[in-house]
Amino acid sequence: MFKVGEATITRVEETYVGSYPLRDVFKDFTDAHMAEHGHWLAPHHYIAETGQIRLAVHSWLLQIDGKKILIDSCCGNNKVKPGRPFWHMLNEPYLERLAAAGAKPDEIDLVMCTHLHHDHVGWNTRQKDGKWVPTFPNARYVFSKPDVDYFAKVDADPKEGPAELGTFRECVVPILEYGKADLVDGGPYRLNDFIEIDSAPGHSPGHVFFKLASKGEQGVFIGDVWHHLLQVYYPDWNFPKNSDAAQARVSRRKVLDHCAASSALVFPGHVGLPFAGRVEKTAQGFKPDFPS
Ligand SMILES: [Zn+2]
Repeated sequence: MFKVGEATITRVEETYVGSYPLRDVFKDFTDAHMAEHGHWLAPHHYIAETGQIRLAVHSWLLQIDGKKILIDSCCGNNKVKPGRPFWHMLNEPYLERLAAAGAKPDEIDLVMCTHLHHDHVGWNTRQKDGKWVPTFPNARYVFSKPDVDYFAKVDADPKEGPAELGTFRECVVPILEYGKADLVDGGPYRLNDFIEIDSAPGHSPGHVFFKLASKGEQGVFIGDVWHHLLQVYYPDWNFPKNSDAAQARVSRRKVLDHCAASSALVFPGHVGLPFAGRVEKTAQGFKPDFPS
């Protein structure tokens, strides 16, 4: 569990396994990079035996002022994930882990998605009597309007749809239809006394990040602004699948600048153990302080 002022933040794991080959993802990664970074990459961020990046998929449960807020909702169970065997047809006790972290589904007040890719919306809904219904019946769901607009268009296009492996219609549209969603743009927009929403487009058109402030301390929930700590050292290295690769690089530097300047505790969507940490400015750029 992590603390930011009066807030507690608990990680709720879905998976933490080897995924894509590192050298496929980061084409600029050379033997010289391995010599420089190998000492911290394995085993928490890289699996030496297979050459795979080790990625976590998790939610962050933020508790503050009597509220229980779930940030990103992972892949979900029983979902077909072509090309992603490590996330295909999962059967994980995610809701049990969420309860152990301090929240039963009906206790969640707010679900906030940094963006609407399939690995960030999966537990928004569950199937009941053949229908997709909100998993968190008492929650408002905060979605980025530019992402909703974009993926609705993709979903409606017979050549491109269904969007996000079907998760847009299974895990986002039902929330809209139940009238549970609040659509925001990345203003910046102040959600409440503790949380401000800011924009970081590029990985998806409407990707946002969440700034938390409590008692003079700061936290930042960055979603997929960077997937891996190598991207803190090399902010121009994109993870695959961006709506706009150049914009993703600009957003990464914007968020890195904010994290370093505010000394915030940073909560990424996929970074491995210790899962949260800080970013420091250096003469060359940035470096992560994620001691494990
Ligand atoms: Zn992701």
